[in-house]
Amino acid sequence: MNYEGINNESEGKHMSKTPEKKSKIATMAEGELHPHVLIFPLPLQGPVNATFKLAELLSLSGISVTFLLTDHIHGRLNRHTNLQSRLRQYPGFRIKTISDGLPADHPREGNRYMELFDSLKAKTRPLFKEMLCAYEDSPPGPVTCIISDGILDFTGDVADEVGVPIFFIRTYSPTCLWIFFCLPKLVQSGELPFHGDDDLDEAVKGVPGMETFLRRRDLPEFCRSGDITDPKFKLYAAEGKGLLNSRSRGLILNTFEELDGSILAEIRNVCPNLYTVGPLHAALRTKLKSSETTPFPSSSSNSLWPEDRSCLAWLDKQPRKSVIYVSFGSIATLTKHQLMEFWHGLVNSEQRFLWVFRREPLAVKDSPTEIPADLEESTKERGFIVGWAPQEEVLAHPAMGGFVTHCGWNSTIESVSEGVPMVSWPYFLDQQVNSRFVEAVYNVGLDMKDTCDRVIIEKMVRDLMVEKKDELLQRAEEMAGMARRSLVEGGSSFCNFQRLVNDIKKSSSSRVHYP
Ligand code: UDP
Repeated sequence: MNYEGINNESEGKHMSKTPEKKSKIATMAEGELHPHVLIFPLPLQGPVNATFKLAELLSLSGISVTFLLTDHIHGRLNRHTNLQSRLRQYPGFRIKTISDGLPADHPREGNRYMELFDSLKAKTRPLFKEMLCAYEDSPPGPVTCIISDGILDFTGDVADEVGVPIFFIRTYSPTCLWIFFCLPKLVQSGELPFHGDDDLDEAVKGVPGMETFLRRRDLPEFCRSGDITDPKFKLYAAEGKGLLNSRSRGLILNTFEELDGSILAEIRNVCPNLYTVGPLHAALRTKLKSSETTPFPSSSSNSLWPEDRSCLAWLDKQPRKSVIYVSFGSIATLTKHQLMEFWHGLVNSEQRFLWVFRREPLAVKDSPTEIPADLEESTKERGFIVGWAPQEEVLAHPAMGGFVTHCGWNSTIESVSEGVPMVSWPYFLDQQVNSRFVEAVYNVGLDMKDTCDRVIIEKMVRDLMVEKKDELLQRAEEMAGMARRSLVEGGSSFCNFQRLVNDIKKSSSSRVHYP
């Protein structure tokens, strides 16, 4: 690589480069550098969780890793996980922090995440560039490769400016990524925009690979606004351009070929170099179990909330496959009315349940409500409520029989890989299409989108746990088997991960070091 050429273009923009440094650049020689990858996840619970697992896997493969967290996320991980002791088992893994540009007390969850994106773009970008340049002179040495969340597109601009190869990772579902890619085409063909009160069951024909089952209601919620100038619509419609963007060496996805093969084939038409390396949480577990040198950690939690592990002891006391787990992830909030419908539906289903009821930000939009005595009584008999659960361990528990989920991609793939059937009630973004895939393509659950009625909830939970239990469990267990096989030697995700490691190592030799 002609580093001089790249530097000429960006000379003067390197904030930390002194005149002495510039002359060094002019005389530098090419040479091998130890691979050092800087990983920048989107600072939200789901993406941090999945990307951290990838970082650990890369570290176990002998690559130096700098994991970049916003101060906000770092503070929460430090408070609620055994981060520091866990990192000691990964030599060459370090955490670096950066500001997201928002005041400490600014809300970052719920519908405020667009403000976080804007702030990252405006305020974090220059800091990111400054930090990359500073690594040229300080331990552990130059960054030879960046892996960043594709939605942080400014990282691609900065990578270009400083001449560091970049790979993107997307932690939402590949199926939704493909829909984002097709949004401009859907506008051109007149399938978009539409309104929430139009016929939401009308078929959507313009997404290749999904023509036979996709309906308007399965598109991301912002497609229902009738307004294609909406900032959210514009942000995600631009995702397609990101896919086509040649500056990225490849795209890393948290799925496996056997799950999403037909849609991955469509994505490969526009973005040929995919690394499908998931399910990442299970890949890490498999790797750690087989490692002779690294002790298997007691917990590899990346929770931003304090985990209430007492639910595991409660699960230990429940019969096999008898409990339905209820969680809507880190962002979704319910109205008071929805909360009551879910609660009545669950209790009326007469199934045992473990419910994650997030305290902060509160899982319910309106002010806390008085709980009817009969609900409280039945919950004591058959239910268990926690503020935040060790979800991976919960889904892997033998008592687990089903999952009422918002169908966030991490929750979906965690459930698929443990063979737990789902009732899905999507909230936003990729969850609408994930929920459709769970029922109509993966055949491992029931799609409950766009209703929130105690009678329907009761029926769906009973269907999942009783009436359709055997067929759904059988299919879910087949899928889980495929997930497991993809992760062992010779499996699709195993091989793709090896290819990623090799490509990262190769990309370090295309960087240069200062003599
Ligand atoms: N999670 C958890 N405990 C909980 C609820 C969720 O550890 O009580 C984790 C879950 O395992 C998943 C992540 O939080 O990895 C949620 O990500 P997802 O993509 O499912 O949903 P989001 O929170 O982004 O809406």
